[in-house]
Amino acid sequence: MLFKTKKRYEVRTAGDEVLKETAKPVAAITPEIRDLAQRMVESMEIFDGIGLAAPQIGVLLRMVALDVPPADDDTRLTQGELALCPLMPLVIVNPEILFASAEVGEREEGCLSVPDIYAPVVRPQRVMLRAQTLDGQLIECECGNLLGRCIQHELDHLDGILFVDRLTREAAAEVARPLDQLLHYGSKHNFKRVKIK
Ligand code: ZN
Repeated sequence: MLFKTKKRYEVRTAGDEVLKETAKPVAAITPEIRDLAQRMVESMEIFDGIGLAAPQIGVLLRMVALDVPPADDDTRLTQGELALCPLMPLVIVNPEILFASAEVGEREEGCLSVPDIYAPVVRPQRVMLRAQTLDGQLIECECGNLLGRCIQHELDHLDGILFVDRLTREAAAEVARPLDQLLHYGSKHNFKRVKIK
């Protein structure tokens, strides 16, 4: 007979101070880092996200889990989507954006740490990503479409920035009320979403 141990998963929500901190680089890929990567992937899946940064589960390290589909057929795929999407779910370590395209675009974003709130954010269309995999492999590729967007959103988390910090005045006004409600709710629940599985 099999007994399944239930695990508790938590995601920190807007208002938690940890989401405003700058995360530290990962010094070496140790067994603890691999365990953390596993927990990040499980948390991302359980909360139905396409990306999750370590600070969102309360760990101030520069690690990001991604599970992003490539853009659909009519869109030109970037080198990053071709290289990375087949590897997902994927955890990247010490990611950096080497440079971003001058061309920007607007797209609606959401966040596991800002549940049920969506708003358009303007960001560069493509970014050159450099990161390491858990196997120590160096990634360097141009990422656009949803992947480029997700990478920029997740890397912001490593520097204590939420997408709601990047809204235009108009977009910020649109979400001001639900965001206030979220902060109020969070203050009563230790700024945590919890799922047991
Ligand atoms: Zn987020």
